[in-house]
Amino acid sequence: MICAAKKANIPVCVHLDHGEDLDYLKKALDLGFTSIMYDGSNKNYEENVIFTRRAVELANQYNATVEGEIGIMASNLPVKEKTGIYTNPNQAIAFAKETKIDAMACSFGTIHGIYLDKPKIDYSIIEKIREKVNIPIVMHGGSGVLPEQYKLCIEKGIRKINYYTYMSKAGGEVIANRVLNNMNSEIHYYHDFVLIGKQAMKENVLKAMKIIYNL
Ligand SMILES: [Zn+2]
Repeated sequence: MICAAKKANIPVCVHLDHGEDLDYLKKALDLGFTSIMYDGSNKNYEENVIFTRRAVELANQYNATVEGEIGIMASNLPVKEKTGIYTNPNQAIAFAKETKIDAMACSFGTIHGIYLDKPKIDYSIIEKIREKVNIPIVMHGGSGVLPEQYKLCIEKGIRKINYYTYMSKAGGEVIANRVLNNMNSEIHYYHDFVLIGKQAMKENVLKAMKIIYNL
């Protein structure tokens, strides 16, 4: 990834997401990652601050940026079971100031993985944090968010969107379909599948980017 990023003719950030261990993050920085995330969302607030600060001190030595997380992101639970995990805006504002992170992931209704229900987004959380905090607020679980929801989230202050699941699903589905309908297929080799999957993922990301950038 780092080699590919260096060769790219556009600026590319190579980011280690959801790091929970400082040694692991250091390994990424030593390899040349330009950004890390310290995810202390499962810790209590004080510990999250302490460890995130350490991650910031570490990344500073490499001139790399740090994303922190406050509030717990759920994954794959029915929406009604996900209560009490949304980010508390006042705590997030304090967290950003105390840790000096460069970007902040917040929990406001998106989830990791496949949505079983329409995402229930609390836009006021983004808005309240954005009023007092100048760093980019990050949406995790960007897959499956509806076009109008993206638009509103960005309006309220979201500046980084993590998008993976539906891209990967698009690649997986196209391969599964080809396998099922293989009777007259021109596909014979492993790399054929890889290329078809890659193409489908590319198209999916392009579609998502057009929505997110309002193209
Ligand atoms: Zn995430």
